Amino acid sequence: MDSLLRLEGIRKEYKIGAERIKAVWKIDLDIKKGEILGLVGESGSGKSTIANIITRLITPDEGRIVFKGVEISALSERAFREYRRDIQMVFQDPYSSINPKKKIGYLLNECLLIHEKGMSKAERMRRVMESLEEVGLDASYAERYPDSLSGGQRQRVAIALALILHPSLIVLDEPVSALDVSVEAQILNLLMDLRRKYGLTYLFISHDLNVVSYLSDRIAVMYLGSIVELGRVEDIIGNMAHPYTRALFSASSDVTATLSGEIPSPLNPPPGCPFHTRCAFIEERCKKEKPELVEMEGGHYVSCHYPLYNKEG
Ligand code: SF4
Repeated sequence: MDSLLRLEGIRKEYKIGAERIKAVWKIDLDIKKGEILGLVGESGSGKSTIANIITRLITPDEGRIVFKGVEISALSERAFREYRRDIQMVFQDPYSSINPKKKIGYLLNECLLIHEKGMSKAERMRRVMESLEEVGLDASYAERYPDSLSGGQRQRVAIALALILHPSLIVLDEPVSALDVSVEAQILNLLMDLRRKYGLTYLFISHDLNVVSYLSDRIAVMYLGSIVELGRVEDIIGNMAHPYTRALFSASSDVTATLSGEIPSPLNPPPGCPFHTRCAFIEERCKKEKPELVEMEGGHYVSCHYPLYNKEG
């Protein structure tokens, strides 16, 4: 599969007073055309920073973003406009990501007015109705305000807003974590249907490895700003190599209940392996040397001095 988007050596720090948070630490990652790449990790691992960098909501301190062979990180805001419509994002909270003062039809039409300047009014109306239908909402929703909708309906509107411009890549940042379990399953199935129908590519971000593995073709596991394991779902689930991945998978909802201690502060990350303060398999070397992300077999990468590969859990 060809690469649709590639991150090369992406680094991002935030300044808080005199201190600096290392949010993302020199990440390389590619998203292949037509795949669902799941990005999983605890809150504070850097997942949302990656989402915001890809959609250019924030600028990395270092590194390149290459989309469809073009280095979009080097483009001016004006030159990037042509690509902005092709990379869409769905946020976690449908209550804050949609303007509550405007009707749904107005919001959808506004996207087309901005990005499809030559489109006739009749064609815009047709696309608005088509987008609502695609996400399982009938035409009457065009006349409704976001406040009158349930969480699941609002997330359907958020997906319609992302879909109406026919993007190649949709970044989904925790799109179901604010929803009830039954609604969550409906939204996941909708995303799968849309992906099949339009050959979409998703970056699906979640703290829940079970949800990510249900949906994704490949999984990247993040911990404290770095990718610690990457591979096809069947390879990761069948042969988890990083102790953190194993803890994430065995945690039903809260990984901190499975691991001792919380994720260390990115203000003061531990030396050596960033996971060593919580790892049950720690050796002396882990406290001093940071492991590289290395390929073990056929696209399965791990960053651990003593991977659990082929070991019983
Ligand atoms: Fe655990 Fe050491 Fe591997 Fe880090 S390098 S995950 S501390 S075994």
